[in-house]
Amino acid sequence: MNKTFSCSACGGTNKPQTGTSRMACAYCGANLNIPAHLQSAATPSVEEKLQEAKTSLSLENEAVNVLRQAQPIAARAWNAFIFWNWLRWLLPACLTLIALGCVALTLNFSFIWFNSIV
Ligand SMILES: [Zn+2]
Repeated sequence: MNKTFSCSACGGTNKPQTGTSRMACAYCGANLNIPAHLQSAATPSVEEKLQEAKTSLSLENEAVNVLRQAQPIAARAWNAFIFWNWLRWLLPACLTLIALGCVALTLNFSFIWFNSIV
């Protein structure tokens, strides 16, 4: 049984698509009407079957994808941790410096004041 038909525009041999009565010529792109005796119902493609199987997968099987999606989040969390760790040491150091500066200024002003009254 011949399951191909010729394009009316270029004469190229086309394999009829399933589930449709019209298709584009594989060679020239012309809109073709598939002969009635070659029309057939669509059958689910392998990709559709794969999609079906994917939705029923457990978390165990999705672990690779989950990890891949979690990676940027983990990287951001790590950066935040590093920043916090750094801040934890920097902040007391800054506060100490500010406190020392305040003490030095106070001593300096009191020294000036003391000199001015003596
Ligand atoms: Zn054609």
